[in-house]
Amino acid sequence: MTDMPAAQHAKPIRQIVIAGGGTAGWMAACYFSGRLARQGVAITVVESSAIGTVGVGEATVPGIRDYFRAIGVEDIDVLRATGGTVKLGIEFRDWAQPGSRFFHPFGLYGVPSRGVPFHQYWLKLQHAGEPTDLAAYSLCSALAQRGAFMLPPDKPVNNLAVFDWAVHFDASRFAATLRDRALAQGVRHIDDVINDVALDAQTGHIAHLVTKDHGSVAGDLFIDCTGFRSLLLGKALGVGWTDWTDLLPCDRAVAIPCAADATRDWPYTVSTAQEAGWQWRIPLQHRVGNGYVYSSAMLSDDEATAKLLSRLEGEALAEPNLIRFGAGHRQRFWAGNCVGMGLAAGFLEPLESTSITLIQTAIERLAEFFPDATFDPALADEFNRATTLEYARIRDFLILHYLGNRRVGEPFWDRLRQADVPEMLAHKLRLFRARGRLVRYEWESFLDPSWLSMYAGFDWLPPAHDPMADHFTDAEISVALRRMRETVAAAVAEARPHRDFIAHIAGSPPAG
Ligand code: FAD
Repeated sequence: MTDMPAAQHAKPIRQIVIAGGGTAGWMAACYFSGRLARQGVAITVVESSAIGTVGVGEATVPGIRDYFRAIGVEDIDVLRATGGTVKLGIEFRDWAQPGSRFFHPFGLYGVPSRGVPFHQYWLKLQHAGEPTDLAAYSLCSALAQRGAFMLPPDKPVNNLAVFDWAVHFDASRFAATLRDRALAQGVRHIDDVINDVALDAQTGHIAHLVTKDHGSVAGDLFIDCTGFRSLLLGKALGVGWTDWTDLLPCDRAVAIPCAADATRDWPYTVSTAQEAGWQWRIPLQHRVGNGYVYSSAMLSDDEATAKLLSRLEGEALAEPNLIRFGAGHRQRFWAGNCVGMGLAAGFLEPLESTSITLIQTAIERLAEFFPDATFDPALADEFNRATTLEYARIRDFLILHYLGNRRVGEPFWDRLRQADVPEMLAHKLRLFRARGRLVRYEWESFLDPSWLSMYAGFDWLPPAHDPMADHFTDAEISVALRRMRETVAAAVAEARPHRDFIAHIAGSPPAG
């Protein structure tokens, strides 16, 4: 770059202090130490190994790979360093009713035509008496069914079934990988307990953290990554909490890892509906993560733990980890000179693996609206507006998972099937019932294929399709859709098992 105008900052940020060293803290440290390397901004992470991290959070969505690119690491290096596996989507078992299964894949279904979405042609054929399985039009669904991942590199799968993938990783190994990278990029690390947070009497901003053995740690910008404690944003600054437990009543999880079965190909997360919530299975190379997310009003901690233990598919590798939480978020994510990220900012149950992606978008959004030390409130206002919408959109998508259930006679499920829903979700449901219209709003994390997978999985399809799809006859659509299914099937037939991919990355040298 040449001849850039002189910086106009009246008072640039010189010191960033990140409180907390879990996934959120180290993701932020790694990203900003890379992005701000040439501006001479000092970054300090203060965290306490004695307090530790929440110890869960191992499934992601495809956007995480953008984060890997942003910090300059390769996907396969992350998989290698963290004992990770590929995630093509989530299989939902027993959600519609006991015995049912459907898959929420990444990527797209089918090909649109004449500006009409694919699913409208698929619906038209359903209504014409030619139903086909939606999963047959999604490369990720079809690969997951076969436990396959590796596609031949020299054979692109034309424009059909756009393919995408995310990862499962060991959270503590991921944080350690990021920490090593951040330290190599000059981040200062203080392992100590934060005893207090001192505010500036005039501005009300955070002046410094008071640590047990390292004195005070001052900064210009503070990032609160202290987990559910929310020491800065919640406790010191007193930012209130928006509570959504009436909409999403699960408030506990018990997690127990078990031994991995190397002969199984599971490039996806499994979510199984249970009596008072649901259970996750997240496969890693060296273990399988399991957890039961439940409502404490319906099930005791001891019962949940016993049920999870009885359902493990391998030998338990650790004692149960019991975690309490509530659905909701801080009323402001950015207050004064403090931005909250991760669990310190908010939490929505991990049904669609959205917490790490919310950390990532918070980091990207802070970079987009990065302040100088005058902290123009307009920046915080926009950050807060966007993040609040982002949380609400995800909340609505999660509510949809419960709403469609037909588990009649089970109190937890009866209540959620009959619950009132937020108006924005009710509006979306009405639009889908009106000829399958899918709408996308600002800061939507889950796009049309995700909503479609839920509606189809719950067999919640509209009685009529978009009249614009009538441009083509049933016979023409039938031929086109058959070709799409054949293209997906041909690609999958050539794919190799996920375990071959893992063996391949284990044998290949790290990049750079
Ligand atoms: P933490 O990991 O709790 O880290 C907090 C940090 O603050 C620690 O370093 C701690 O030592 C430090 N700290 C706290 N108090 C002090 C103090 N006084 N002094 C010094 N340091 C302090 N997300 C996903 O994306 N996918 C998932 O599959 C997923 N599953 C989840 C399952 C459950 C049951 C739960 C509860 C969460 C799940 N999440 C998931 C969320 C995910 O775990 C978190 O978003 C992620 O781990 C980030 O956590 P964190 O860094 O905000 O907090």
